[in-house]
Amino acid sequence: MTTEKHGFEAEVSRLLHMMVHSVYSEREIFLRELISNASDACDKLRYEGLTNADLLKDAGDFAIDIRLDKDTKTLTISDNGIGMNKDDLISHLGTIARSGTSAFMENISGDAQKDVNLIGQFGVGFYSVFMVADKVEVLSRKAGEEAAWLWASDGIGEYTISSAEKAGSGTSIMLHIKDDADEFLEVYRLKNIIKTYSDHITLPITLISKSKDEEAEDAETSEKVNDGTALWARPKSEITEDQYKEFYHHVGHAYDDPATTIHYRAEGKIEYTVLLYIPSQQPMDLFDPARKTKVKLYVKRVFITDDCEDLLPSYLRFMRGVVDSEDLPLNISREMLQNNPVMRSIKNAVTKRILNELEKKADKDSDGYNEFWKAFGPVLKEGIYEDFERRDQILKISRFETTADKGLSTLDDYLSRMNEGQDTIYYITADSLDAAKRSPQLEGFKAKDIEVLYFTDPVDEFWLQMMPEYEGKKFASVTRGSADLDEKKDDEKQENNPELDALIGVLKTNLGEAVKDVRVSNRLTDSAVCLVADDNDMDIHMERILKMHNKLDGAASARVMEINGENPLIKALSEQATKDGSVDALKDASQILLDQAKIMEGDLPDDPVGFASRLSAIMTNSFK
Ligand code: ADP
Ligand code: MG
Repeated sequence: MTTEKHGFEAEVSRLLHMMVHSVYSEREIFLRELISNASDACDKLRYEGLTNADLLKDAGDFAIDIRLDKDTKTLTISDNGIGMNKDDLISHLGTIARSGTSAFMENISGDAQKDVNLIGQFGVGFYSVFMVADKVEVLSRKAGEEAAWLWASDGIGEYTISSAEKAGSGTSIMLHIKDDADEFLEVYRLKNIIKTYSDHITLPITLISKSKDEEAEDAETSEKVNDGTALWARPKSEITEDQYKEFYHHVGHAYDDPATTIHYRAEGKIEYTVLLYIPSQQPMDLFDPARKTKVKLYVKRVFITDDCEDLLPSYLRFMRGVVDSEDLPLNISREMLQNNPVMRSIKNAVTKRILNELEKKADKDSDGYNEFWKAFGPVLKEGIYEDFERRDQILKISRFETTADKGLSTLDDYLSRMNEGQDTIYYITADSLDAAKRSPQLEGFKAKDIEVLYFTDPVDEFWLQMMPEYEGKKFASVTRGSADLDEKKDDEKQENNPELDALIGVLKTNLGEAVKDVRVSNRLTDSAVCLVADDNDMDIHMERILKMHNKLDGAASARVMEINGENPLIKALSEQATKDGSVDALKDASQILLDQAKIMEGDLPDDPVGFASRLSAIMTNSFK
């Protein structure tokens, strides 16, 4: 029999180093992690078995055994779940594949004490065994395969894999407990840990220990330790907050505290139980392009799948938890789930319930709601775009920053603060709040005390297309079209200014096709120039988003350049513009003006090298 040696992925080595040397005081969480994995493995096999009955041939009832042997100082956690073959062992227990662990690695600060506390927050799954064991052996056989494999490691740099024998599919993980961790060889201690962290696991967890009775050699005592009833099936009044929290950690593969827990039973034509959580922190995969929902579907307390598109809309993909149906058949397959009328009505009702809960939270606990909004608002807003029926409700509970600087506001707040006679809801879109705040196009609006909404999530551009107005007031971008900032229109001074007209002529000649038009701005008060989109052109920020995603056909549209007649630079240039030969004399200045406007948009000048050399030339001149 050959034994292969493999090195851990570098990241895993770092993680293991932490585990081996950890002084984390709650090392007991290793057991929660192993039990959670064992339970997942059984769920997986049960689900696979629905479509491939052969896999269940000799599986028996799913169960988790924990065997304690004080003589050899070992603790062995066994399941009869899906098991792992050689490739699985290498990819699951030698690399960082899972999201929780990579989130952990990203949060590592280098400060030992802080990092140790992260272990509790993230769990870091399987690798946490090395906090309590100096050698770990994983014996596993994948369902449907004959070969078994033994994975072994002391958690330092390397692991070995060799072929092995094992009756039945599943996994047995043997921990050689460290000397300073012998508390985990005590029955009462283990019972206590299982009760605390894993009581909700629906498989029986049996603790088996060699009896102390010397006479009867090999005698064993065994005891089922967990309650084993599905937590969501119990009455609310019998569930403690800690139990809800532990279940969230397990079901959501998450380690933050849930911000909101929604637990109810729907009775009537269609019966089901819902236990859902809103996390307090963004899950790692929140912005995955796949936009998958993670809520688990159960049928009569039996796990069916956590990959079910028809359970919740994508814009609620931050939710974690379970929905347990009484009406679906137990052997329901993926195909049968699609377009299933029972699923459709569950999806509808649960979506409605979640939005109503959010609305209630927004009313009753605005601070808590704002926290929720900061984490999940950008995702929820996708619903304005794609859920026609609930568009208005989602918009009502949406929050926005605005130039009024009053923190997160609703659209109704905005309406109530609108100036008399204002019939437009103004907004500016940008990549970030800071970028939005710096936009020169806002200057005139601020001067006139007109509030502008900051739209800083990419999704804002998209839902705006579906919702051109709110409560009868049109949305209008401050970077598009001409700004009707009333009074300034009558400003004769600006309208009849031959020098300014001359400069506009010079700029048009020099910039040619690069701009669509040049005109005097009434949205600027300080800055010299800005770019705006023409009435019928795409908003500047939208164009940038599409460009980033390679979704833009053809070239970007040319912009309208607006100049500020009150700005000293524009005044100086205007004076020059009336002189002979001004077109040539102002060639560099024209280009720099345009480049400057682009930079303020967060774009690069079309020709950065040219920009730099023009700027250098001007600076050199000014120091002569
Ligand atoms: P997570 O459970 O969050 O995916 P872990 O570090 O706990 O991360 O486990 C890593 C992976 O190893 C699991 O996703 C699973 O594929 C595999 N694994 C761990 N324990 C078992 C087991 N008892 N049976 C089958 N697969 C397992
Ligand atoms: Mg795990």
